[in-house]
Amino acid sequence: MISVQDGQNRVLTQIARPTAPEILLLSQARARVLAEDVTAPFDVPPTDNSAVDGYAVASADIPSSGTRELAVVAELPAGAVFDGALAAGQAIRIMTGAPIPRGADTVYPQEVVEKLGRTIRVPTLRKAANVRMRGEDVQAGTVVIERGTVLRPAELGLLASLGRVEVLAYRRPRVALLSTGDEVVEPGSPRKPGQIYDANRFTLAASIESAGGEVLDLGIVPDLRDELRARLLEASAADAVVTSGGVSVGVYDLVKEVLDDVGAIDFWQVAMQPGRPLAFGRVGTAHFFGLPGNPVASMLAFLLFVRPALHKLGGRRRLFGDTFEARATEAMPKKKGRREFKRGVLQWMDGAWQVRTTGPQGSGILSSMAAGNCLIVLDEERGDVAPGETVLVEPF
Ligand code: AMP
Ligand code: MG
Repeated sequence: MISVQDGQNRVLTQIARPTAPEILLLSQARARVLAEDVTAPFDVPPTDNSAVDGYAVASADIPSSGTRELAVVAELPAGAVFDGALAAGQAIRIMTGAPIPRGADTVYPQEVVEKLGRTIRVPTLRKAANVRMRGEDVQAGTVVIERGTVLRPAELGLLASLGRVEVLAYRRPRVALLSTGDEVVEPGSPRKPGQIYDANRFTLAASIESAGGEVLDLGIVPDLRDELRARLLEASAADAVVTSGGVSVGVYDLVKEVLDDVGAIDFWQVAMQPGRPLAFGRVGTAHFFGLPGNPVASMLAFLLFVRPALHKLGGRRRLFGDTFEARATEAMPKKKGRREFKRGVLQWMDGAWQVRTTGPQGSGILSSMAAGNCLIVLDEERGDVAPGETVLVEPF
């Protein structure tokens, strides 16, 4: 029996390097992982510019008390540059984003200015008010976004503001996915007595995509050695192979045996609950993950072992999700010596994060995942949880 953490370490040490980088258009790079450190080629904003619609003036012309009249000598829309320089006693009508004209250093918002034909009357104002300084967002030469960062909307906008059209991103890890079991049938097809619809290929395909992977769907394989062998060999062209079912100790649990034959296998009992045996190893050059068949157990094993592996393969800097503390609102039975994961509902109530379980926690009860918004993570050393105690939660 090994611990969850030992298992995670054993998986991650097998992943030596990420997939190769590829060039992507910025417009196709959402949720992809940056494969370069991006340095700013120039300051953003590139010039001092106005933060408001108003009037640019020289601070020497700002009255220290009372008001003062200034002549409006030009109008500057965003995108226009003023050729001349501001002289004493002058102001320039300026729009948000327009570069601050030479000689000016402060902008009056139009709301505080009194318009008198071709002049304006201005009150007192702090020097440099309403000016966005050159480089206040990003300075030329600095690393703006580090390699290994997932590109969210903000990062994409930042890259565009640097003039980037393309970026280097890690290729999405290709993950071959298959379900095993004579009883498992495709949704949409008739279901005979004793058969169940394949749930795992849907939870796992979505989980693979959420973790940045690309799914190669290899369907459902019956519990037959030769078919399983052929399908695993086909799967080995991928970066990783994920199967569900067939890894426990039943007569028809063939995954371990077939993998021993066509690949290399490391078979573990992980000290966790829901905890089923997990097969990890290789088939060809692909990393192999044989997940349990029970739908909750396979999702959990994915979250604990496959997701960090795909994150590492996909070049991400951050491999694990965030956990934080919440108050348990109910008693939770817990055996010492293994890590237990319950499906929880996390809510902000009475000024604190509070968490309850979703009800029955059996490893086949998939509705307990659907009803939840977090995992409640109870460490190995912990015993029963009493209401009011603090527990760790990981939102999903
Ligand atoms: P196994 O480890 O193959 O014995 O599977 C354990 C349990 O999970 C059994 O009750 C299977 O019927 C069920 N199971 C296996 N694969 C799937 C699947 N793809 N979707 C839903 N349930 C499954
Ligand atoms: Mg089975």
